[in-house]
Parts: sequence; C-alpha cells; structure tokens
Amino acid sequence: MEQKGFFSGKGVYTRRQFVGQLSLMGIGGVAFAGLSSIGGCTSPSNQQAEQRTDQQQAQQKLGIALVGLGQYSEGQLGPALKDTDHCYLAGIVTGTPAKIDKWRRGYDIPEGNVYNYENFDTIADNPDIDIVYVVLPNAMHAEYTIRALQAGKHVICEKPMAVTVEDCDRMIAAAKEAGKLLSIGYRLHFEPHNIEMMRFGQEKRMGAIMHIMAENGMNGTEGWRLDKALAGGGPLMDVGIYCVQAARYTTGMEPIAVTAEEGTKTDPETFKEVEESLTWQMEFPGGVTALCKTSYSESMNLLRAEAEHGWAKLEPAYPYSGIQGETSEGEMDCEGVNQQALQMDDFAIAIKENRPTPVPGEMGRQDVKILQAIYKAMETGQRVEV
Ligand code: NAD
Repeated sequence: MEQKGFFSGKGVYTRRQFVGQLSLMGIGGVAFAGLSSIGGCTSPSNQQAEQRTDQQQAQQKLGIALVGLGQYSEGQLGPALKDTDHCYLAGIVTGTPAKIDKWRRGYDIPEGNVYNYENFDTIADNPDIDIVYVVLPNAMHAEYTIRALQAGKHVICEKPMAVTVEDCDRMIAAAKEAGKLLSIGYRLHFEPHNIEMMRFGQEKRMGAIMHIMAENGMNGTEGWRLDKALAGGGPLMDVGIYCVQAARYTTGMEPIAVTAEEGTKTDPETFKEVEESLTWQMEFPGGVTALCKTSYSESMNLLRAEAEHGWAKLEPAYPYSGIQGETSEGEMDCEGVNQQALQMDDFAIAIKENRPTPVPGEMGRQDVKILQAIYKAMETGQRVEV
C-alpha cells in the first residue's frame, strides 16, 4: 500500500533537515509548483539536506528587524527567532518606548538597532539589518514594506499583504526596483500537515480533487481588527484568508469566480464597520468547488478535501501547533514544527542563495484579489469573476 506508507511516514524530520529540503527545491511563484519531492511527513534525502544546512550555518546569520511589537511579534516571531539557524532578531521598530527595555534585554539588541516610526528610514544605514519584518495592522503593511524596500532591505510582510490590490502592486514594484526579495508571512507552507494536503491535491494521491471545505473562525476580537480603515475588513481579511490559501494550495488551481453571503450580525454595535461572519464559495476550473466560512463569533478550524477515491482532512488545520490530519486511509503522522522559525529561515536561505521565496508578494496579491472579489460578491449578491 504505497499511499498508506506515504501518509504514515515515520521519518523523524528535524527543522534543520526540513528547511534544507525546502531550500533545495527552490519553489516559487503562485502556482504551488514543484511539490513532488518536498519533504512533509517523510524525509527522502536528508543526508544531502543536512550537509547543505551545515555549510549554510557556517555562514553568517542574517539580521531581522521586527516592525510592530504586538501579539504576533511578542508571542510567536520573537521566540521563533531564538530557534532559527539562518537569521536572528537584530532590531526592533516600535512607537511605544515602554516596550524597548524588555525587548532589548530579552534579545540582546544594541541601542543603535532600535527605531521608531519617524526615524525608521534611517535603518538604510544599518548593516546589521538585512530583513525587515512588517507586523503592523493590515492597512499599514504597504507603507512600511515600501519604505523598508526603499531603505535597501529585504522584506517579509504579514498577511494579508495589503488591503487593496493596488497597494500590492506598489509593494511588488518597489521590491523589483530595489532588487530585494519580498515575502508574505504564510507560515503554513512550511508546516508538514499542510504540505501533505498540497501533495494530496496537487499530486492527485487519491484522484482529482472535487470539493474543498475550509473554515477558520474565532470567538471574539478587539482593537484595530474591528476598524475597517486599519483592517480592510473583518474575519475574512484576518483568518478567512487561510481558507482562500488552503483552497488554492490544496487544489493547485486558481479560482475563476466567487459567490458570498454575509452572516447575520448578532452584535451590530461591535461589528458596525466589518462583517461578523461570512460564507463563500469559490469555483475552480473543471467544476471543482470550495465552500468556506469565517467568523469572529464562532470557533472553527477545518480543511477537508474530497477527491475521486478518498478524502483528506486537517482539524485543526491552521494553528501554530497541534494540527491534526487524517485521510480515508488513516491518520497522518507528521512532526510538529516551529512554523515561524522554518518560514524565516527559508527566507534567509533564499536571500543567501539568491533564489525566489516560495511565498512571494505575487502570492499575497492573488489572495488580496480574491478577498476583494469575495467582498464584492457579498455586497452585490452576485457571482463575481476573479
Ligand atoms: P497587534 O494589535 O497585537 O499588534 C499590532 C502592533 O502594531 C502593535 O504593536 C501596535 O502598537 C502597532 N501599531 C502601530 N500603529 C498602530 C495603529 N495605528 N493602530 C494599532 N496598532 C498599531 O496585532 P497582531 O496580532 O500582532 O497582528 C499584526 C499583523 O500580523 C496583522 O497584519 C495580522 O494579520 C498579522 N498576524 C499574522 C499571524 C500569522 O499567523 N501569520 C498571526 C497573527 C497576526
């Protein structure tokens, strides 16, 4: 049973081996191409990958500056940067002086590598900083990404890439002009269960995909995420984007059109500017469909793919840890990894090797384009072509 072995691979896949493997593949573009030999739950050629990462490690780590020291930076990215082999936390950019001491002590950051939003552009003169990681509210991504690129830095920008396609275009153009790499914080492209879903669909492991179900929601939110000007929208922009991504990387296809329906607002005061919940459908070539759901008042976390001869499911599918997978042939046996450490290390390796990132700005732009089509479908009640 070839396929069964695939899904229950017992290979112990270390983070270093996994990054090495990814870097060897050099996947790029939005088509999720070239996945056939990327290691997920199994580890086909670790020796080569191990050798490669040892050589790479001997080289200098690249310095990252985090812009915006909120929950994601504090809870995930900072700690992950203590677990990376190819990059480290070299600097911070914050508008809140009270945060500086704790970060400087926690990460041994020199005083000269601390910036605020006013003097941010002088980061151009700092050779310690190779990469700027933008972790600000969504509507601020474009400005800080472009400023960082103009300062001569490579950039990782958090999802969603921006709140309009026009902003995405400006960001991509700025990267081209600067000759720097631009990547989006799509950590799940480095997560073994989600990579298994990509292989399941794109390699037609159980026949062609016919239908996808993707749900991502949480119960409660606050702050800028409820402010349309800063967030660009509600849960669709924040967590529903994972469903769009999942449908794209599982099918390996781009949606042709979308329909959407806003959920009833149970709390119109809280959700006066953005949707509280939303269901939408994506049509792919060949009659493949994805039914998706997102919410700020219901917890859900699912990715399910129905293929001609079987199915695969992740539940939960999108968290930082604890992802569980199953197929119609049995349980997926994948290693837990530090997604953010893998993601940032892969970007650092891409820079060192002068190869594309597998999660480039173009991929973020396509998601924003789809999100905009979903909102248009929601507002008009019409089927909207992407
Ligand atoms: P947060 O509210 O915890 O942090 C936002 C930071 O931006 C804060 O430090 C805040 O001080 C700063 N800021 C600067 N100007 C601001 C303004 N005008 N209004 C509000 N805050 C301002 O948010 P977060 O959860 O850290 O999210 C930041 C970004 O990271 C978002 O784009 C979000 O989508 C993304 N994110 C990604 C993941 C992931 O898994 N990839 C997870 C969480 C958040």
